[in-house]
Amino acid sequence: MADLRLRLNLPYALIYCRDHRCSHHVETNADGWPDDVRLSDIEANFTCTRCGKRGADVRPKFSQASMGFRQVPCRTVR
Ligand SMILES: [Zn+2]
Repeated sequence: MADLRLRLNLPYALIYCRDHRCSHHVETNADGWPDDVRLSDIEANFTCTRCGKRGADVRPKFSQASMGFRQVPCRTVR
């Protein structure tokens, strides 16, 4: 499977906790990230500030959620 590679040409990214029971997410400014940054590389560098879990899911922030991206795994109903 090909490495997930997204050009982060958007100013903001959303960082989601890997733990779906936690659902913690933050918005971050992705302006300073390199163009060829691999999300799989930076995802491992995040640690949730709420539950302490290592790793995160990074998504570019779109103003509309109707661009064919599946729902992020953290946004589960209880
Ligand atoms: Zn968490």
